[in-house]
Amino acid sequence: MNKEFNVDDVRLQFPILAEKVYKKNLIYLDNGATTQKPLAVIDVYDNVYRKVNANIHRGVHHLSNVCTDLYEKARQIVARHLNAADSSEIVFTRNTTESINLVAYAYGDKFVGPGDEIVVSEMEHHSNIVPWQLLCQRRGAKLLVAKVSDHGELDMGQLAGLLSERTRIVSIAHVSNVMGSVNDVRTIVGMAHSVGAVAVIDAAQSVPHQAIDVQSIGCDFLAFSGHKVYAPLGSGALYGRRDLLNAMNPWMAGGEMIDKVSFAGTTFAEPPLKFEAGTPDYAAAIALGAALDYVDGIGMDVIEAHEASLVKRTLDGLLAIPGVRVIGQAENHASAVSFLVDSIHPYDAGMILDKLGIAVRTGHHCAQPLMDRFGIVGTVRASFALYNTADEVDALLNGVEWVKKMFS
Ligand code: PMP
Repeated sequence: MNKEFNVDDVRLQFPILAEKVYKKNLIYLDNGATTQKPLAVIDVYDNVYRKVNANIHRGVHHLSNVCTDLYEKARQIVARHLNAADSSEIVFTRNTTESINLVAYAYGDKFVGPGDEIVVSEMEHHSNIVPWQLLCQRRGAKLLVAKVSDHGELDMGQLAGLLSERTRIVSIAHVSNVMGSVNDVRTIVGMAHSVGAVAVIDAAQSVPHQAIDVQSIGCDFLAFSGHKVYAPLGSGALYGRRDLLNAMNPWMAGGEMIDKVSFAGTTFAEPPLKFEAGTPDYAAAIALGAALDYVDGIGMDVIEAHEASLVKRTLDGLLAIPGVRVIGQAENHASAVSFLVDSIHPYDAGMILDKLGIAVRTGHHCAQPLMDRFGIVGTVRASFALYNTADEVDALLNGVEWVKKMFS
């Protein structure tokens, strides 16, 4: 690990981490839901409204041009961060959900037809299931589901068996938001391409935790949420291969996305603007650029190594506590750890942890099919970010012991 990484220094950059909860230090382990924001992001966001705010594009006045430049610069930062070939392959959206819906409507409605098949997996977040279900209903296509092993790993053999010349889209999470399982997306993309399907990667839980290279992964689309990678709410992006973005239908229609409008017919702007109808949240997008600059300044490999040590400490500690069941023990495991304590309901465990100042998420984590797969109603999930510490992991483990005691 990079010797210069000092988690105490990092924590000073996140003002909210100094907050107390029930007079206790806040231990924030709900990063899979959303991350806290560093000063580098808060200041840039604040600066947009204090100093430069004016609606972007089409403006002739100074502030509009400044804001437009910052917005397009942020697009270049996202492209660089994902190693996209060109910034025109980056569409700003509000979040992962919007990015996946964009593909389902703009690509799916045009290229998926009756009898075609779309493949997802049992470990998907609802936002990588329901848009495809609706697409299947609209277009008379069929949704097929790749299975997850007892260990929480994707069954690659069974996935291969689902693919055929009928497959149009394979859409898989890079990292499970429940179990932290890391899927071999490069291999999955290759499998999808070998049957002529496009590959969509839900990178909501990987972009915050590891370096992403869309060209090396080879995916056709990749979706992520800015708010999970230290950026403001309302910022997100879709990476799409330029030739596919060119070929797709427009999605939302209105201002910004047009070339020429008349009652005889309308022509559309080139991607990415073709997919950015209406005034975007440019302040959030600009601050997303600041967030990615911030993590790149630390180094995604450094962040990945730091978080890996926290995940390992958590897994080792939980597995040593009698009565704790860890849901998802994939070999390649990042960022999130899900577990159950004896037969205690996850909500009860979460409420006790909360009283100790420990913020974890409980419930089905928008992954009900995965809960059904394991025959459980939900889990307790601890999910990590670059500012979490080994001491916080130990506090969680002590908290779990406390939960056990309370119910014994
Ligand atoms: N996919 C995964 C894997 C997620 O973890 C999440 C958020 N929990 C989403 C999609 C949806 O993200 P958002 O709500 O930001 O659109």
